[in-house]
Amino acid sequence: MPRTRAAVKTNPYQVHIESLGKKQRELLDSYERDKAASAYSKELNFSLSDGERNLLMLIEEAFTRVKDDTYGTCTNCGNVIGDKRLLAVPWTPFCIDCQELQEKGLLG
Ligand SMILES: [Zn+2]
Repeated sequence: MPRTRAAVKTNPYQVHIESLGKKQRELLDSYERDKAASAYSKELNFSLSDGERNLLMLIEEAFTRVKDDTYGTCTNCGNVIGDKRLLAVPWTPFCIDCQELQEKGLLG
């Protein structure tokens, strides 16, 4: 038997993890560009929009869950989030049911 190729851990969520990374780079890039532009114009108020900042935070949290091996399960109820949903919003911490609760302000 040939030796199996070195420790590339296959994660069932690899696709989603990659798109998380991609989105994160996108956001950080635009942040850096923004920062450079405002340094040039000597304006202090460079920043990401609230939405972008929030998204970055969600992405970082998602990476933490990847590390903890809890990625793909709802942080509220523990159900599997589902591939289709992760494909659309790989950074989501919630299953669709809990997302609805959260949007209605019913989640703590
Ligand atoms: Zn849930």
